[in-house]
Amino acid sequence: MQLKAQFQCASGCNQAYSLNQIIYRCEQCGGLLQVVHDVDQLRKRHAKSWIELFEQRYMRTIFPYGSGVWGKKELVCPNVEDENVISMYEGGTNLFWAERFGHEIGLSDLWIKQCGNSHTGSFKDLGMTVLVSMVNQMLSEGQPIQAVICASTGDTSAALSAYAAAAGIPAIILLPKAKVSTTQLIQPIANGALTLALNTDFDGCMTIIQQLAQTEGFYLANSMNSLRIEGQKTVSIELVQQFDWAVPDWVIIPGGNLGNVTALGLGFLMMRDLGLIEKLPRIVCAQAERANPLYSSYRNNFETFEILKAQTTLASAIQIGNPVSVWKAIKTLKQFDGIVEQATEAELAEVVAQADQTGLFNCPHTGVALAALLKLVKRKEIQRNDQVIVISTATGLKFPAFKIGYHENTLAEIESKHANSPIELDPDYDAIRRVIDRRIA
Ligand SMILES: *Cc1c(COP(=O)(O)O)cnc(C)c1O
Ligand SMILES: [Zn+2]
Repeated sequence: MQLKAQFQCASGCNQAYSLNQIIYRCEQCGGLLQVVHDVDQLRKRHAKSWIELFEQRYMRTIFPYGSGVWGKKELVCPNVEDENVISMYEGGTNLFWAERFGHEIGLSDLWIKQCGNSHTGSFKDLGMTVLVSMVNQMLSEGQPIQAVICASTGDTSAALSAYAAAAGIPAIILLPKAKVSTTQLIQPIANGALTLALNTDFDGCMTIIQQLAQTEGFYLANSMNSLRIEGQKTVSIELVQQFDWAVPDWVIIPGGNLGNVTALGLGFLMMRDLGLIEKLPRIVCAQAERANPLYSSYRNNFETFEILKAQTTLASAIQIGNPVSVWKAIKTLKQFDGIVEQATEAELAEVVAQADQTGLFNCPHTGVALAALLKLVKRKEIQRNDQVIVISTATGLKFPAFKIGYHENTLAEIESKHANSPIELDPDYDAIRRVIDRRIA
């Protein structure tokens, strides 16, 4: 099957551009671009045959098809030659039944899709493998790309630095100073990226990166580059595959720049177009109350959207007041009978700790999604037997200061209801025994 995807203006003027062109916005109208596939061609293969193909490849070793992303290459980015793919076996993350936590909150069928169990510890790997592979393809065609660049709230820069390093392409990273975790900061440093910590917030970094992106030879890796969305959309295909091609009732996902919720929707729509599934789930996008422009718009039936100045939140990866993919996300939410919820700092921190005590190990953004879930269960919008999937976007291991602060009860405005701080003792058997006996009745 000879397949080619291309960029197309997403603002309605439909102007098309080649995927190996260095372009992020429509030259005609300035709109964002989206990747469109040759769906007629793709539909020539029967749904059953797609499923067989995806099952054959899933988590196997034939490069690059064992990757959760490249196993769906035809639906993601057929334009890249296999030999130019830069993959670190991303995707294939565990989807598990959170039985005990579900039971605690009154749900019998709650599942967590652990996207943070990936090469750099967040779902950003799914999109970055596609973008960097396309850059590698362009380099092989002789295009003069000197560096890949991005502004980041932490996880995008970790993913870009790793994939760029694997490809041997220089990376330039702009981060808001002191607003990412130490782990997130050390990732681009370790991978050899030029790492610039700016005295501003993410939206401030974004302004500068858009200026840098005008430089010939610099390739922009932020999620306004829709190649990333194509990789990220495999999350929905993968989770449906993990359910033997059945569709859940609800998917809950935290949102900042709103590329990921868009990608989630696109994956489901593509499966429906190809006959792999028949129904769509409802999608819930969860925002931090301190960075909630989409929530405000939702409350207003999406009639208006207002950019705001994001306040400091523990959910630092979604501390964004001017989300680049907002119009795509709103379109997606309308197609999926979507809901937007929000979570306060206390709500997200307490639910993370509660869920961790049932064996999870959540990042604060997953906490925002879990807090939204609690609200929807309480309102009975989500019913006891509904099948619910929470997209966990990063590993909790990236956020040690958040976890230690919580358990030592030093986070501002947080009560730490579930604190469990370590008890320091001398190596004295009787003293140790007394502490144990007090706790384990
Ligand atoms: C990037 C990121 C998000 C938000 O994704 P958007 O596409 O910006 O909405 C959520 N959680 C984590 C951990 C992230 O890194
Ligand atoms: Zn246009």
